[in-house]
Amino acid sequence: MKQVYQFHEGQGSMRQLLGGKGANLAEMTRLGLPVPPGFTITTEACIYYLTNGKRLTNELRQEIETHILELEKQTGKKINDPDNLLLLSVRSGSKFSMPGMMDTILNLGLNDTNVEIFAQLTGNPQFAYDCYRRLLQMYGNVVYNIDGQLFEEIIESTKLRYRVKQDFELTVDQLKEIIEQFKDVYHRQKGQDFPQDVNDQLYQAVEAVFSSWNNNRARVYRELHDIDHNLGTAVNVQTMVFGNSGVESGTGVLFTRNPSTGENKLFGEYLINAQGEDVVAGVRTPLDIQHLAEDMPEIYERLTKMATDLEKHYKDMQDIEFTIDNRRLYLLQTRNGKRTAQAAVKIAVDLEKEGLISVDEALLSINPESINSLLHPIFDETAINDDQVLSTSGLPASPGSATGKICFDTIAAKEMVSQGYQVVLLRQETSPEDIEGMVISEAIVTSRGGMTSHAAVVARGMGTCCVAGCSDLDVDEDKKQVRCGDILLNEGDVISVNGSKGHLYVGEIPLIINENNEYLDKIMMWAQTRARLDIRMNAETVTDIQTGLDFNASGIGLVRTEHMFFAPERLKEMRRFILSQNLEERQSALTDILTYQLDDFKAIFQTIADKPAVIRLLDPPLHEFVPTKAYEIKRLSEELAVSEEILGTRINELHELNPMLGHRGCRLAITFPELYLMQAEAIIRSAIAYQNETGVRVSPEIMIPLVGMTSELVQLKNQISQHIEKILNDESVKIEYTIGTMIEIPRACLIADEIAAEADFFSFGTNDLTQMTFGFSRDDAGKFITQYEEQGILPKDPFQTLDVEGVGELIKVAVERARSEKPNLKIGVCGELGGDPVSIEYFNKWGLDYVSCSPFRVPIAYLAAAQSQIKQSL
Ligand code: PEP
Ligand code: MG
Repeated sequence: MKQVYQFHEGQGSMRQLLGGKGANLAEMTRLGLPVPPGFTITTEACIYYLTNGKRLTNELRQEIETHILELEKQTGKKINDPDNLLLLSVRSGSKFSMPGMMDTILNLGLNDTNVEIFAQLTGNPQFAYDCYRRLLQMYGNVVYNIDGQLFEEIIESTKLRYRVKQDFELTVDQLKEIIEQFKDVYHRQKGQDFPQDVNDQLYQAVEAVFSSWNNNRARVYRELHDIDHNLGTAVNVQTMVFGNSGVESGTGVLFTRNPSTGENKLFGEYLINAQGEDVVAGVRTPLDIQHLAEDMPEIYERLTKMATDLEKHYKDMQDIEFTIDNRRLYLLQTRNGKRTAQAAVKIAVDLEKEGLISVDEALLSINPESINSLLHPIFDETAINDDQVLSTSGLPASPGSATGKICFDTIAAKEMVSQGYQVVLLRQETSPEDIEGMVISEAIVTSRGGMTSHAAVVARGMGTCCVAGCSDLDVDEDKKQVRCGDILLNEGDVISVNGSKGHLYVGEIPLIINENNEYLDKIMMWAQTRARLDIRMNAETVTDIQTGLDFNASGIGLVRTEHMFFAPERLKEMRRFILSQNLEERQSALTDILTYQLDDFKAIFQTIADKPAVIRLLDPPLHEFVPTKAYEIKRLSEELAVSEEILGTRINELHELNPMLGHRGCRLAITFPELYLMQAEAIIRSAIAYQNETGVRVSPEIMIPLVGMTSELVQLKNQISQHIEKILNDESVKIEYTIGTMIEIPRACLIADEIAAEADFFSFGTNDLTQMTFGFSRDDAGKFITQYEEQGILPKDPFQTLDVEGVGELIKVAVERARSEKPNLKIGVCGELGGDPVSIEYFNKWGLDYVSCSPFRVPIAYLAAAQSQIKQSL
């Protein structure tokens, strides 16, 4: 197995084997660009090393030796050669760029003797000794794991002693003193000397870079960015060129376009007389790249030309490292540059316009999740002080950023809003009773609950920013206080909430509003033409539906009718229904509720017009609608003229140990059929009214939740359709309605063919399906899921990204079985996974018809659906 490739032997397509850096160095060499010669040791060699006793094999040593000889031939320089000394850099480079996560050693090849030679050869002893001290420092740190701070302290104390301000002002003698002290550190810390044999230096450096693949920060980075731990890193061994060899030299970083804004203009900075790490270390302030045009015009011109050529070659914005060694320009690295979402959309649209990439390539270049930040106002990160950061983070449950005074309940929120303040509702968890407070809040924060908790779902629906499950917050709703570590906040104190990241801050953080974005509009237009999946929205209020329509949602995939019972007068009627003792009382309450629902559904039809709308009949357990606190029960007993005692008894009866698995969904209508009949009647009568008024034909899609048995569906469907047919007969009109079901119980997936025979459509409720497949209560899983992720037991929170093997398999089985019975059955997804790009890729692949998500995720879903479609056709 060949384990080492000279740069001229490789090419850009060999990223897996040579790592991104190695492949790009090879490609640049092939293109004839001024890359210092070198070779790459493969990722395969790294994996072999890590899994076979962590020793370099003799074969590998021999191969490295051969390639050093070849390098010596190419450069005319030699290791240890007193006439023409070859020095090397050793750098990591894996398939995916992991900036700063692994290690680099520069100036390898110097030792106590060579440094003298180098000083003479360059005629610059200060430079030579500076290179040697850097080698000792990096080598000690990378190979011997010596704390870098120990070296820094020596440099600082020497500078102090000699009253020297900058590193490069240190004299040769002072540098020699530092070097001796560095060697002492090796002794004290490791009981070893710095290796004087250059081959030992090289082999140990290669081993250290291999091992750095598994250092802690690299592992964490990979986990954060979903990079496979088994890829390994390549090692690039390259002839040193020196940006620190005098005032005719320098080093810098260049982006071919502005990575923050996307502006098509070179962006970057450089330092004269410096080596790579000086730019990163931030000790000296680098100069803007435009300055180079005056400093070294001919170099600037060549660099600009190379940058343009590289961008054309790679068809993407490049991030380029360069070094100028005595007025000779070298390129040390190029890669596709990281960029903000704003820059990403502009660059994609511009590159397409310039003819460098196709529309499909433009769409694939943007991370769907990233455009979230373009849809909501965001905090000005530069304005955040460290002491404002609250040391807790929760789930980024609903994106956006907002500031307001803390309120612990709806009453306080209403009062403060009436005084003209903006508020943040902060509770242990929310329930339907809090809805009024939630509606008027700028942001919602809870200390409990997950991504599908009440707070999260409702907030996303409303487009209100929300951070859920901040378990480090100790919320005392009675005392109206919240504690986070040492910080105690009271009602009325101001906090800022970043719902896109799950972060909280004390005090106000200024917002940056995202202006209309012509580039995003263009991307969305392209995405909509490419996507096969329809993208619907989960919405019930006119404002939310309008938001979804503005993002071109193709309809509504889920109206959660329970969200319509939050206003006080409706809640009161709902409670009257729930607490009724007999059918007569229930009917009377329902008659009043019907009036409200007629308005609700009419408003929906008026807003959505001829687009489809799935309206789900009541789903949550009834106890969610009744109060629990003594003062609220007292107030309700006065309102309903029922004794507190009777109320208390009835509320107790409604109490369930596992309400999510209890009397909810279609089970409610099996016991109280009149409930769904009332809702179905309201839907149909509103549709008739709207159709009569406007002539626009509507086709309501009535959805029954939580079906696990075909018989449940059959019974309810028959009752509902008989009721509807009677109305239509009486009114002598026709309405094209359908009756379908949610698929959110594993049993329903397994008998999907039987259910399909009875249903007009399916919609997967992945929140409940995930809950029931894993047996994780969706309200409690937040307590342990992070730990599961941290310990690698679960790769991802399955409520946020589809668990392909389990929940995904059930969905696949259900789709196959259902379509074997009814090939044209319309199937969608309306759980939170409907807005998750990774999950959408699977839903598209498995042939679903649509996904439905909260209105603000509609653009993200479109882009994900388009990407999935494009990838399938590749
Ligand atoms: C679901 O379970 O995925 C769903 C959409 O319904 P809900 O979240 O309202 O239970
Ligand atoms: Mg559900």
